[in-house]
Amino acid sequence: MYEYLPTLNKTAEKYRTKAQRELKYCVTCQPYDGGSYVWIMGEETTVEEIFDSIDCPERYRDDIVEHLGCPNCGNSSFDRYDTVGTEDNYRIRVESHYNKALSKYNNKIQSFREHLEQFPSLAGSHPLGRKIFKEIREKKVDSINVGVTSWYRARGVDHSKVFDSKDLHAPPVGKSSGGRFHHSGQSVLYLADSKDLAMTEALEDPSVPSIIWIQEYKLIETIDNVLDLRYDWDNFGQLSNLTMAALLASGCIFERVQDRNNKWKPQYFITSFIADCARSAGYSGILYSSSRDSGFNLVLFNNNDNIQPVGKPNIFIYEGRGSVNFFDDSFIDF
Ligand SMILES: [Zn+2]
Repeated sequence: MYEYLPTLNKTAEKYRTKAQRELKYCVTCQPYDGGSYVWIMGEETTVEEIFDSIDCPERYRDDIVEHLGCPNCGNSSFDRYDTVGTEDNYRIRVESHYNKALSKYNNKIQSFREHLEQFPSLAGSHPLGRKIFKEIREKKVDSINVGVTSWYRARGVDHSKVFDSKDLHAPPVGKSSGGRFHHSGQSVLYLADSKDLAMTEALEDPSVPSIIWIQEYKLIETIDNVLDLRYDWDNFGQLSNLTMAALLASGCIFERVQDRNNKWKPQYFITSFIADCARSAGYSGILYSSSRDSGFNLVLFNNNDNIQPVGKPNIFIYEGRGSVNFFDDSFIDF
């Protein structure tokens, strides 16, 4: 037997659209514990309360409810009095933060980006450049202390020499090409928070299986004063500085360098400027989200005795990833 959905007239359709926009989660979405669900996703309410909130006339409700579905899990059999979830208040706040940051700064960021393409070392002659410098210098940006944790650095195997720990450490001054958070020849240490991420970051093409060196590091003491450029959902809503939030939301922090062999990399102008500002303001480094995989990268500006290699580097066979987004080349260029 086929079940036909009731036909909605134009007005009913309008209320359906509104109700559907509110309905984001349902009971099926929630994890179960001992036979009953634990509500964690979205703000708990009922379909009927959603109808009330949008002033949906009573005569449409029975028909509309049959058209509603849960966008999160696909469940589509709802009753008017069923428990469902509307969007998380936290998520709503984050979205509004994101939109506010973007609408206020997007044009300014584009103009700054174009300015730097013309005059790479004249960031300070652009209003946004001055603002970024001032806010970082005055420590109005978000910073974090990185606690005692393990970090990893990887290097592809391209010859038969056996690497020692020092071969995996920061390259000496004069050796590295420019990268996302450093200038050509500057010595900085890039680390990843997992072996997998270190490998993904280090390989030119992570979809191709490769042999790779990995060195584990341990932070033996907390490193404080690290500029926080993590761009994940949990952290983004808590960023207090709108300029930095806008830079993250605009994607310019993670802009991809298409051709690594090309010497012209305007994608790094804003980020290396931010790194200069952070260095001059006394930050130890920058913690930022990887654009290649989930996880975080840490770039440390100066040799830091708190970071110690654990044993010697090991060889790994990296099996390769099917589909990896190429956005972040910051690990490649040394
Ligand atoms: Zn659901």
